[in-house]
Amino acid sequence: MAEELGRSVRGRQRIEDLERPQLDDRAYRIITLPNQLEVLLIHEAGTDKASAALDVNVGSFSDAPDMPGIAHAVEHLLFMGTEKYPEENAYNQYLTRHGGYSNAFTASTSTNYYFELSYPSSTPASSQSVTPDASQINLVESKEESPLWGGLDRFGQFFIAPLFLEDTVDRELKAVDSENKKNLQTDSWRMHQLNKALANPDHPYNHFSTGSYKTLHDEPIARGVKIRDEFIKFHSTHYSANRMKLVVLGRESLDTLEEWVEEIFAKVPNKDLGQNRWDMPVYTEKELLTQTFAKPVLESRSLDLQFAYRDEEKLYESHPSRYMSHLLGHEGPGSILAHIKAKGWANGLGAGGSTLCPGSGLFTVSIKLTDEGLKNYKEVAKLVFQYIGLMRDQPPQEWIVEEQMRISEVEFRFKQKSPPSRTASGLAGIMQRPYDRKMLLSGPAIIKKFDANLISEALTYLRPDNFRMTIVSKEFPFELDQREKWYGTEYKIERIPEDLLAEIREAFESKSRPAELHFPHKNEFIPTRLDVEKKEVEQPAKEPKLIRNDENVRIWWKKDDQFWVPKANVHIYLRTPMTNVTARVSLLCTFYRELVNDALVEYAYDAEISGLGYDFTNHSTGLSITVSGFNDKLHVLLEKVLLQVRDLKVQEDRFTVIHDRMMRSLRNWEFRQPFHQVGTYSRQFKDEKSIMNEELLPELDNITAQDVQQFFPQILAQCQIEVLAHGNLYKEEALKLTDLVERTMKPNRLPANQLPTRRNLIWPSGSNFIYEKPLKDLANVNHCIEYSLFAGHRYDSVIRAKLLLLGQMTDEPCFNQLRTIEQLGYVVFSGPSFNDVWSGYRILIQSEKDCRYLEGRIEHFLNTFEKTLGEMSEEDFESHKRAMINKRLAKLKNLSSEATRFWGHIYGDSYDFLQADVDAATLEKLTKKDMVDFFNHYISTSSSQRSKLSVHLQAQAKAKEPTLDEKKTAAIAALKIILTEHNSSPDNDDALQTRIANVSSADTLSDAIASYLAQDLKLAQDVADKVLDEAKAALGVADSGLPAAPQSLDAAADVESVVDAGHPVLIEDVHAWKASMHVSSGVRPVRNLEEFVELVEKL
Ligand SMILES: [Zn+2]
Repeated sequence: MAEELGRSVRGRQRIEDLERPQLDDRAYRIITLPNQLEVLLIHEAGTDKASAALDVNVGSFSDAPDMPGIAHAVEHLLFMGTEKYPEENAYNQYLTRHGGYSNAFTASTSTNYYFELSYPSSTPASSQSVTPDASQINLVESKEESPLWGGLDRFGQFFIAPLFLEDTVDRELKAVDSENKKNLQTDSWRMHQLNKALANPDHPYNHFSTGSYKTLHDEPIARGVKIRDEFIKFHSTHYSANRMKLVVLGRESLDTLEEWVEEIFAKVPNKDLGQNRWDMPVYTEKELLTQTFAKPVLESRSLDLQFAYRDEEKLYESHPSRYMSHLLGHEGPGSILAHIKAKGWANGLGAGGSTLCPGSGLFTVSIKLTDEGLKNYKEVAKLVFQYIGLMRDQPPQEWIVEEQMRISEVEFRFKQKSPPSRTASGLAGIMQRPYDRKMLLSGPAIIKKFDANLISEALTYLRPDNFRMTIVSKEFPFELDQREKWYGTEYKIERIPEDLLAEIREAFESKSRPAELHFPHKNEFIPTRLDVEKKEVEQPAKEPKLIRNDENVRIWWKKDDQFWVPKANVHIYLRTPMTNVTARVSLLCTFYRELVNDALVEYAYDAEISGLGYDFTNHSTGLSITVSGFNDKLHVLLEKVLLQVRDLKVQEDRFTVIHDRMMRSLRNWEFRQPFHQVGTYSRQFKDEKSIMNEELLPELDNITAQDVQQFFPQILAQCQIEVLAHGNLYKEEALKLTDLVERTMKPNRLPANQLPTRRNLIWPSGSNFIYEKPLKDLANVNHCIEYSLFAGHRYDSVIRAKLLLLGQMTDEPCFNQLRTIEQLGYVVFSGPSFNDVWSGYRILIQSEKDCRYLEGRIEHFLNTFEKTLGEMSEEDFESHKRAMINKRLAKLKNLSSEATRFWGHIYGDSYDFLQADVDAATLEKLTKKDMVDFFNHYISTSSSQRSKLSVHLQAQAKAKEPTLDEKKTAAIAALKIILTEHNSSPDNDDALQTRIANVSSADTLSDAIASYLAQDLKLAQDVADKVLDEAKAALGVADSGLPAAPQSLDAAADVESVVDAGHPVLIEDVHAWKASMHVSSGVRPVRNLEEFVELVEKL
């Protein structure tokens, strides 16, 4: 293996013998460049994707106190042009062209940047085996042939010579602002910030880290600060090669990768900066022993106990806090959760330690409460302390840690690859921590040793004088008198009353505890049989085999032939039309599912922590049970789940708890982010039958525990069984597992003509519909539009390929136009969209601008793109095709991704296992003319035959209108970008400044711009018109809203008679509208199922 070559060339040390999973065929090498930048190179011979990630050891904890969010703003701005590639979108264009993308995030102590791109599928993998010879021979791997080189070079420049292009500053700050606004109504952000705000003010944890236009633009400018200079200063103060960790993963040899990295990244300046540390408590005496009552946006109730803890970064061999989180967070018999669940007080519990930064940490116990639990939160807190007392009463238990060691060791040994970008980004972050380099992969995963002293030490942090409490609920019997500064969360904070503290101390110290609390039993689910019979095959099979296909049972099976892990996935589908008859029935099924899962929690917990899980859910077409993980004890868990599904005894008290949970979840649904809701509304216009949230809620109170008990056996009495057994399972085992299902459930046969058929509505040619829906959340300022165009039948492979290619071609330009230039909002998606048989194209925007305006901007974009497509060079067209083909042929990364693919095709009734290959072959044949014709017919706004329907979710609150000065600044910034895009240099800056400065009302801003373009720049009329049009769009005052006001649709009218592509029609009565639609043919197997039957037994 390559790692034996611990050579040292030019005095450079190379570490290659990293501890790794058994099946990991990647080769690793760690080097340090002369500028102290540490690099991990990963060679994966057959990978179809390459990735690189760079993590800088500076994050929001280093924000200047008077410019919160500056680290995050720098993350956004760093990517705005470099000396070598000055065009601001050069990087993203390059990545899109190679089927890739980039992303970045800012954490407390680090900022992480990464990208991923695809190798062309026609180029054969460079070397198939990782032999020492192969990596020693200098394979001819030219820079020109590999897309990775170009990606690395563009990426590297951001750390060598970023430009922070002036024109992009304002726009990126708006992107940051929009990101912050998107988070404002989200409870996880709100509660996290509240915890931070109530921490030690001297600790940077206390600050606000996202930033907003106000903190990064308005306020500093008001203080006379030149903001761009501040961003550049932040960068030059904190960014340094010795604080960076780079990971590069590709199919090139380690030597080639090393050469490339050296050539590019050795130029990153090194300033020998020290490592960041904050040696001060996150919570001091002042903040500890307080209780905070806080109000969430959504209905939820919880109790959090937070202990000041230590940073555990150096203790990675024993991970002492995992002993505590294992016991406190246990869900089996004897645990805190089992006890408080039995009392009807809780739905869930989590416990764990976290390192905030070098120097401090927290340990948190977080409990999801029921209504009763909320009333008894003091008792719950006392029970937690009783359990802590129980843990501290006895020395750390070696057998418990041994179980944890075994589980973590097995999980790591059979860990499967994660996708390149996740691998690269994750490892770059891990490299910032003090792991022995040989344990870079294993360190975070494995517990290596039992260290009683370190565990005892860890336990000393869990004391009644070292914690704070947070109670979250929509309602309290007293007023919440304070508001958190950044998110406006209402709360009240006070010292924990002395009498409660005394009770907690008593609970902690007393030896008399409820008998229900005890240590867990020995875990019987830890796998011991881990053999995999490896039979090399030339080509892994792309389809499962049908090994039984009789009256009421179908079994699909594939023994794994490429991933070689001792794991399996077993999917069981009980098909019936019964589960979706009415809203009430659908709700009964959901109750059934929740009650089964609730009853299994304690039992399944040991299995779950041993890498074996199950899932039981209801669908519109039946029920499904999935068991997946290490196959050794899979049948044990499956049997238990089947019995519970069959024999559920609905307990009145559990029903009450679940009823309450479902009520909250249904009510909360309409308060989710608009872009999470919009898909459901769109789908109701595609499905023949759909049950909406608002129809479920009123049924809730009409359902009793007895109703559920009486109803569910009816589903099981008659249904079809279909099974997929996949992974480390022999055919015999697949047959036996199915026997178990049949024997347990004993369903009557469901005749084929009673099986549910998947169909969709066909939008008539020439449709132009709008459905408007006011959003429920009165505080939300974001509108959301989903603009959908119908193209035809999903299983028409030519239409599907055209949609995929259209999605690929519009991805970057759509984002660039609607988000980057027009600043409509942080959430902009575009791409193909598929339902059961429905296929089409959609654009989704969440924005403070109203939906009719957004609709106009989308149509404007489609018009622009129509031109782009017409003028596209053959070369660009081919490269888009190539990128899409590569995406479709991307290799499956692990066993479960293959199971998910198979199951999707079985569950969807199409059995179209070879779809990816068919798509690639169909794409290959598409010509530019095909796409132009397709666009003109189905997508173009001037087509009289296209079918369009858009859903407009309307916000109830209005966003703050920008001031005139803000609009002026925005106008100047936008104009510069637009002019550059039109290859017209924005000189004569003074003239522009003067004209804009003289504007006295927002209405005349565009007139001033028009005069500037015509009189100062003397642009030709047609160019000037275009520039003006785009400038107006960027200012949010573009003329195009809807081409015409929508007319209402008379319920009695025949839809066909009112369709007119040029005139939108408003859907007011959804039911009547649906009734007037035609329905498509249903999904059928793409091939005769007999063809999948295994013909010759070859075992
Ligand atoms: Zn961001």
